[in-house]
Amino acid sequence: MKKDMTIIYPEYSGLYINLTNRCPCNCTFCIRQGDQNEFDNVTTLWLEREPSAREVIDAIKAESREERFKNYREFVFCGYGEPTEALDILLEIAAWLKENFDLPVRINTNGLGDLINKKKIAPLLKGKIDTVSISLNSSDPQIYEKTVRPVYKEKAFPALLEFAKEAALYVPKVILSTVDTTITHQDEEECKKICDSLGVTYRIRKYTEPKKNK
Ligand code: SF4
Repeated sequence: MKKDMTIIYPEYSGLYINLTNRCPCNCTFCIRQGDQNEFDNVTTLWLEREPSAREVIDAIKAESREERFKNYREFVFCGYGEPTEALDILLEIAAWLKENFDLPVRINTNGLGDLINKKKIAPLLKGKIDTVSISLNSSDPQIYEKTVRPVYKEKAFPALLEFAKEAALYVPKVILSTVDTTITHQDEEECKKICDSLGVTYRIRKYTEPKKNK
């Protein structure tokens, strides 16, 4: 598999930040499983090695001198892995972003950062992160486990919900999402109830067809 050092890349209207390829899950739908590059703007998001905070900051500084920088509407920790696997450098970079730019900062996460880091991470996000977007996948713990296949097994789903609830205390916007057409409407209604009970937003993301091999 081809590897590179693509640590920042433009996607939608954001500047995305790729810190790590590590992830404790093996989702049935994960785009990392195919050989096909799913991204229009980069060759690969597989990293030769994990970047340091300094390398990411220098890359963003260089990008900020480009004309296209004015088109970015947010920074997004996303990447080809779970961003909270690299929590320390994520927090260092997020703090620097807040000091230097007037753009919101989002994390796209599987919500298992507490289990990964063996501590409650929501309080650490305060003042650094504006939006936490978590893949819920289903309201049913068994469907969730079969779909996400986390190394933490049955501990994962309740940990995700606990993290979401806590994050809502420290982060302005917390979103739990599912993908349309992948679960039943009844499941979606149950997801909405869970989100209401946790005090977070429920979002159904649009399904996008995986790219076909040429
Ligand atoms: S959590 Fe994300 S990176 Fe990890 S296996 Fe699932 S889709 Fe892939």
